Amino acid sequence: DQAKKKYLENLYQINREAAFFYMKNLSREKGPLLYLENRGVGRETILKYGLGYAPLRKKDLCEHLLSLGYKLNEIEDCNLVFINQTSGEASDRFKNRIIFPIINSRGRVIGFGGRQFNSDYGPKYLNSRDTPIFHKGNNLYGLNIIQQKKNRDRIILVEGYMDVIALGSVGIYDAVASLGTALTKDQGQLLKKYGQEVFVCYDGDEAGIRATKRAINILFSVGIKAKIICLKDGMDPDDFIKSHGPDAFELEVKRAKDAIEYLIEDLKKNFTLDSAEGKIGFLKEVSKLLRGVQSPVERDIYIDQVSRNYQISRESLKAEIESGQAKKN
Ligand code: ATP
Ligand code: MN
Ligand code: MN
Ligand code: MN
Repeated sequence: DQAKKKYLENLYQINREAAFFYMKNLSREKGPLLYLENRGVGRETILKYGLGYAPLRKKDLCEHLLSLGYKLNEIEDCNLVFINQTSGEASDRFKNRIIFPIINSRGRVIGFGGRQFNSDYGPKYLNSRDTPIFHKGNNLYGLNIIQQKKNRDRIILVEGYMDVIALGSVGIYDAVASLGTALTKDQGQLLKKYGQEVFVCYDGDEAGIRATKRAINILFSVGIKAKIICLKDGMDPDDFIKSHGPDAFELEVKRAKDAIEYLIEDLKKNFTLDSAEGKIGFLKEVSKLLRGVQSPVERDIYIDQVSRNYQISRESLKAEIESGQAKKN
């Protein structure tokens, strides 16, 4: 209804004002600017992504928003301040952090991420909690930027704010980040709306590899065929761009692995194929995986590949896949 609409509109406006406030603060602050500069984030990129700085003082933002006439309870509902229960005093949620506004596809500021840069106080990144206008699980960071490009044949899915920004700063505007959470089904559906082909490029570390496998399953479940980019030495896209440049990154995109091939190679790591036991174990696991491939044509192609790469006969693979299906029925 009308009142609810007005209320939500207020929250969007408060977020917008907060983003401007943070941006203005960044332009007059040496420390955070120097930090960004050292990470290769220049003026142009700062403006393009609306990066800002949340001051150290206790409630600068809160006071600013109140002075503009916004209501304290609505500022609180944006998760920009919290009120101390006993003293009743307000304090800003983000203090002394570099601010990344999260902007949706319609260009509205729906939430914020804040990174520490000169102290270890609190977590490295602090994000807005869910609010009436922000649901982490069905948003992606960077949607506002990929919107600006007409021909979206591909989307690159990365982990972090800085990955999206590093790619953007070398002219690669196809990246979105899953906001630190494990990819959700809603985010998968969102991705499907924006790109034909999704390249998963999570961090090349242990956590990133685990998250990649989860993401593949989610993407399959919403009908997206994913490709996987594996960065060496535990690097993330930001690190990679810094040390190897954009051309090398595009080469990695070209070399991206088909998701099923990626999963098969990952399975292989758990078995030694020169023992009968290892080979049987691998055969069973691969069969389980290929059982999930719906298209008979595609499944046949993978059967061929596995048979060739690992010296397993096509017949036994097929039989094993079918025997599992019989059991399921
Ligand atoms: P940087 O390069 O600035 O260190 P990063 O993006 O490489 O950042 P990661 O540790 O790889 O940092 O985390 C990836 C993403 O996960 C971050 O961009 C952020 O969205 C989220 N994240 C990381 N640490 C936290 C945290 N402590 N709390 C909430 N979210 C976090
Ligand atoms: Mn990481
Ligand atoms: Mn990272
Ligand atoms: Mn990083």
